[in-house]
Amino acid sequence: MPDTLRQDQDPEVTLITPSAPISTPTHGGRAKCLQRLVRLDMPVPRTVALRFDTVHRIARGAMPDIDRILAEFPRGALLCVRPSSEDPDWGGPGSVLNIGMNDAAYVELSDSIGADAASSLYQRFVMAYAIHVARLDPDVFEEIDGTGQDGLSEALRCYEEEAEEPFPQDPARQLAEVLRSMARAWDGTTARLLRQAKGAPVDAGLGLIVQQMALGLGIGECGSGVLQLVNSETGLPQITGRYLSQSQGREALQRGQKSLFLECDPRGPSLEEIAPEAFEQLKQYAAFMREKLRAEMQIEFTLENGSVHILDGVRVKRSARAALRIAVRLAEEGIISRQEAVMRVEPRGLSELLHRQIDPEAERDVLGRGVAASPGAATGRIVFSSSEAQASAARGEPCVLVRRETSPEDVRGMHAAVAVLTERGGITSHAAVIGRGLGLPCVVGAVRMGFRLHDKLLLAEDGRRFREGDIITVDGSSGQILAGAPKTIEAALDDAFQTFMSWADAERDIGIRANADTPADATTARNFAAQGIGLCRTEHMFFEAERITPMREMIFADSPDDRKAALARLLPMQRADFIELFRIMEGMPVCIRLFDPPLHEFLPSDRAGMRDLAEALDLPVSDVTRRVESMGEYNPMLGMRGVRLGIAVPEIYDMQARAIFEATLEASRDGAPVVPEIMLPLVSACREVELVRSRIDAVAAAVRHERGRDFDYSLGVMVETPRACLRADEIAQHAHFLSFGTNDLTQMTYGLSRDDAGRFMSDYVQQGVFPEDPFHRLDAEGVGELIRIGVRRGRQGNGGVMLSVCGEHGGNPESIAFCRSVGIDYVSCSPFRVPVARLAAAQLAI
Ligand code: PEP
Ligand code: MG
Repeated sequence: MPDTLRQDQDPEVTLITPSAPISTPTHGGRAKCLQRLVRLDMPVPRTVALRFDTVHRIARGAMPDIDRILAEFPRGALLCVRPSSEDPDWGGPGSVLNIGMNDAAYVELSDSIGADAASSLYQRFVMAYAIHVARLDPDVFEEIDGTGQDGLSEALRCYEEEAEEPFPQDPARQLAEVLRSMARAWDGTTARLLRQAKGAPVDAGLGLIVQQMALGLGIGECGSGVLQLVNSETGLPQITGRYLSQSQGREALQRGQKSLFLECDPRGPSLEEIAPEAFEQLKQYAAFMREKLRAEMQIEFTLENGSVHILDGVRVKRSARAALRIAVRLAEEGIISRQEAVMRVEPRGLSELLHRQIDPEAERDVLGRGVAASPGAATGRIVFSSSEAQASAARGEPCVLVRRETSPEDVRGMHAAVAVLTERGGITSHAAVIGRGLGLPCVVGAVRMGFRLHDKLLLAEDGRRFREGDIITVDGSSGQILAGAPKTIEAALDDAFQTFMSWADAERDIGIRANADTPADATTARNFAAQGIGLCRTEHMFFEAERITPMREMIFADSPDDRKAALARLLPMQRADFIELFRIMEGMPVCIRLFDPPLHEFLPSDRAGMRDLAEALDLPVSDVTRRVESMGEYNPMLGMRGVRLGIAVPEIYDMQARAIFEATLEASRDGAPVVPEIMLPLVSACREVELVRSRIDAVAAAVRHERGRDFDYSLGVMVETPRACLRADEIAQHAHFLSFGTNDLTQMTYGLSRDDAGRFMSDYVQQGVFPEDPFHRLDAEGVGELIRIGVRRGRQGNGGVMLSVCGEHGGNPESIAFCRSVGIDYVSCSPFRVPVARLAAAQLAI
């Protein structure tokens, strides 16, 4: 057949040939993939591709020349139309098969493949057309109980009754209507929202392909199915798929269908047994595709009287674990380069591999069950709204977001939560899709639990009541919801993971450290190959019940002597903490930030707490209450925080410096030499640094003298106030390093409370005031401008100064890109985000 639809004659529609001008950005991924298969000489049925702009015009009523499309195919051939979006994950309208079936085709096909098969094809098309094109209620066809010709007659009658016209017989009209309905479906609101949730741009286009049908119904071995050479969950080699005799399209995959596994299946013979030659051929095609298309592919195929037709090839759907293993194997076999392997895994998806699991030995107090939608287990306090989730995260309290279902407005809440539980939804619901994207443990469709959101109440399946703030655990791997915090175990990181990450590290040109406050955090950081601790928030070491009392005594101390005594009790605790951190990190850098608490966080807020404190301090409750009130601040985040505490009550930092130095000597004695980094928070003036530095130097001198041993340390400054950015040149003259605290810097640049922004953030993002929550993704324009100034001036003031970012943004791929672009030496993020950051940074360097 001549190439009547060559690009130069009609750019709107293009016959897919090896040299046709087809590209993913103009025709979509499916069209491009089919062209690759054609180039590989696979038995692909004849196919025509329609460009995005053509389909866009079709949706607006401008139809291309249908007769010219039809002229590309043998007269009377049945056709199908399939969507071809740029990224297959963005979905698209369902394919419509058997276009061209009409009374005449029925007669012809009855002769060639038998009346039953012909009736079945015709009936399928009538029903698909009725539902997808004429938009009739599918229930209309529910009562059809006849098969073969009877079923067909009933379907035609139903159509005529409901559509108030006979079933259209003209193939050109049929095709035009199918194209129109698919083009319009892409423009529908639901479809748009769904694909945008998967990351599609607002103006994502749809291409359509028109393909000659391989029938899958008829004489000899006919049927359809899919086949791949790898297990989608594990990524390990395994031939998997489905095949159903006398079927079309994806019928073999539909639940409830009696289908034959490709592999040995106790329910019946396998494809290998029914059609061994076809099976062998399919395996060879799949292996050939894998090699030539350099990816694990799923083949969609049809057998027509025993011969194989390849309808499509799509990249195998895969879990993050599988994606990584597949990439590693392809690189190890020399099919792709290591760099390409590194580029093939989505950094955010890595967290799916990294989450803790519930210890198999742990007791499980099961409250309810739902669909296991995103793997891993996480424990947190119940919150019932996204703004509460954000507030909870800002307080540093892990939370589980509990919703009936989630919508795009909840994405920020999901970012803030450690896990998500919903009443509604299935494996592809919003919560499930987004949860997996974020690597967030997620259980959806827990319909037997009670979700009384107005009463802030979650009812277990057995009726137990859980309120906001109660602790539950979501096991996204099993679908269970558990009471309390069962013991968990670290993710198992296999050889493929280690190999992959070593390839990533070989490319990376920006350092990655972890924010770690506890030995457990530090161990995780080591496991994930962080290059040190970039931020140890020392105040977090004192939230535990048995430690908070001496801390409170110190805060309440009236006289310098009392304070000294309280600090003397804190010193050994701090020293022990630091020794442990240094030992775990084995000589890697450990950056310890001196206290940065708004002090009120350490004081009791309710009567019971006041009473406990009064008891501990041996004071009347009224005294304690008065003192707590007197220490209250109107705006604690801008009050007696950070270095201000070090200036006003210098003994606290003295104690911490001593603990650090003594621990340095202790840990260096039996391990790698330690050079601690000491960091001052919330600096805004150079003089603050000078004053604190001279005291810390004095403590260092005292410890050296007392112990008769020498040690080194470096002193740095957190740049997290706008003034510190502006004055970075003079500040850097007194510092070995500057670390941008982008959480506070964002708060202060916007004048936006970290704790309260959740209340209106969704309105702001929805109305496009902010493109994204600036606490989640660094605002490159505003906050970023201050960082650029800070970097430039910091380096002017001290050419050797080391620069880093230690706010939450350090684990966010887009923010890492910004940090790298302005010349930051390393970013520091929470331990579980370290591999994500390592991979994101590697991809930036490739
Ligand atoms: C910051 O402000 O970015 C930071 C890392 O410190 P914190 O979150 O403890 O205020
Ligand atoms: Mg801060």
